[in-house]
Amino acid sequence: MTPWDARIARALELAPQSVAASQILTFYAALAQYQRSLFTSAIADNAPARGVPFADAFPLRLATDAAPAFLRWLAHSAPSPDVLRNAASAQKLLELDWTTRLREALECDAPGGVASLLVLDGPALFVVRSLTQPFAEAVAVARRDERCLAPQSEGAGWSRCPVCRGAPRAGVLREEGHGAKKTLQCGRCFTEWGFPRLMCPTCREARFDALPVFTADAFPHVRVEACETCHGYLKTIDLTVDGLAVPAVDDLASISLDLWASERGYGAAPTTGASV
Ligand SMILES: [Zn+2]
Ligand SMILES: [Zn+2]
Repeated sequence: MTPWDARIARALELAPQSVAASQILTFYAALAQYQRSLFTSAIADNAPARGVPFADAFPLRLATDAAPAFLRWLAHSAPSPDVLRNAASAQKLLELDWTTRLREALECDAPGGVASLLVLDGPALFVVRSLTQPFAEAVAVARRDERCLAPQSEGAGWSRCPVCRGAPRAGVLREEGHGAKKTLQCGRCFTEWGFPRLMCPTCREARFDALPVFTADAFPHVRVEACETCHGYLKTIDLTVDGLAVPAVDDLASISLDLWASERGYGAAPTTGASV
C-alpha cells in the first residue's frame, strides 16, 4: 500500500456522489493512479540521498525522464475541453526544458522565491506540480526519520513544510486527548507538521476576531478558515467529524467552497498543490 492508494479510493468513492466536482474527482483518480506509478518507481530506484538539502535529494533526472510519457498521457486523459488536451498546447509542453522547469519549481518555493513561479503558465505549472508531487513524497517518506529535520517543537508554527519548504495545501484536524490537534499538509510532499489552531499561516494573525471560520451543510467536515487581516484562507479537513476523509481529495471535492470564498474576496494562499 502506498499513500496514493487511499487518495485514489477516496476520489473514486466521492466522484459519483458529487454534483459540482464529479469530473474533477474522476480525473484526479486517474491522475493519482499515474502519480502512484511514479512514486513506486522513485521508491524502487533507490533510497534518496540523506543529509543533503531537499532539492539535492530530489530525483530530478527520474522526474525529467518521466515528463514526455506523462504529457502524452495527459493529452489523452485530461478532461475535455481542456487546454492540456489541445494538440498545439501538448506539443508546446513537450518542447519545454523540463529539467530547468522542475529545478526552478523546487527552488522557487523557498520563502521569497515565489516570483519565478509566475513565469510558468497554467498548463506548465500543472505539469510541474503533478510531476513533482510523487517524487517529492518519495523523498519525504525516506527522510521522515532523519535527524536533520526540524524537531516537531520547532516545526510548530512554521508556515512552510519543514521537509521541502513547500506551502501548505490544506489544514487537518485530528482528535487528540479531549480536543483536536491541527497540522498543515504540504502541497508538494504531503508531509504534515503541527500548527496552532488559531493562527493564519500566511500573515500569522492570531486574534480570534480576525479569523472567521465558515462551514457549509454539504461539507460538514470542511472548514474555510479565513483571515480578515491578509484576506487569505486555507481549507481545513476536520477528521474528528469525518474520519474517512482524505485531506488532498476532500479538498478537491469541496472546490465549491473555494469559489464561495473567492466570491467573498478571500484569496487562496500560494500553494504547491496540484490545481486540478
Ligand atoms: Zn513538503
Ligand atoms: Zn492572514
